[in-house]
Amino acid sequence: MAVAIHNDKTIKKSKHDQVEIIKISVNPYFPLISIYLYYIDGMLIDTGPSKRRRRLIPLFRSWDLERVAITHYHEDHSGMASWIARNTPAEIFVHEKTIPIAEKTAQVPWYQEFFTGRRLPFSAKAYPNVIETSNYRFYPIETPGHTDDHICIFEPYYGWLFTGDLYITPCPKVFLEEESMAAYIETLHKLNRFDYQTVFCAHEGVIRNGKEMMNRKLEYLERTRDEVVRMHRMGWKDRTIMKKLFPDKVKLEQRSFGTFSRLNMIRSCIREQ
Ligand SMILES: [Zn+2]
Repeated sequence: MAVAIHNDKTIKKSKHDQVEIIKISVNPYFPLISIYLYYIDGMLIDTGPSKRRRRLIPLFRSWDLERVAITHYHEDHSGMASWIARNTPAEIFVHEKTIPIAEKTAQVPWYQEFFTGRRLPFSAKAYPNVIETSNYRFYPIETPGHTDDHICIFEPYYGWLFTGDLYITPCPKVFLEEESMAAYIETLHKLNRFDYQTVFCAHEGVIRNGKEMMNRKLEYLERTRDEVVRMHRMGWKDRTIMKKLFPDKVKLEQRSFGTFSRLNMIRSCIREQ
């Protein structure tokens, strides 16, 4: 049961089962995108961006943080890890590929840094096979697609899956340049073998029929890839395919200064066929 406990314009707290949910806008002045952080049994899943440190630090201080599980390296998920590493005894887990990335200050375009704040270096450990807290067992699962270092966290007893940025929407029209259609499809097939129901998405919150929605996404991505490949084999250029499949501009393309684009998605299908 999700219950709103406290609300203001940019931060909202609620609960689902024993999971505390924090919804906070990535940028306090331009609340275009929110991120959901999940806290359960001493473990925090994703840290939020450093842009929101003033609101997040009191929250982190109010918890007995023992562990932090980072789903992938993007700044809105890892931006506060450096503060946590310096100010709490918590162990921080990342994909082993993320360890060298975490050791350096993030190099991102100015507009992105303006939006999410700077991610300072932090040291982290590679995920173990299982994370045992007092009451739960969490299994990290490698789930490339959104990024190469992406991890989902599975709790089999309750059927929970913390999906970072893997889900977000069942029908995406835009990709980042680093996103991979082939990896998404392979990952979604792999996750289908796990017995989960509830998805905890980092940008959409709790999705009760999570498995059904993830499979809807899988079907959509396979259908889209097949269409793109078919058109490409007919000799169509990527821009022509884009205009045919997704004629309308997508809000996120403008809001992200083109970092997310329809063309990235089309090109991923062509590149990987
Ligand atoms: Zn991301």
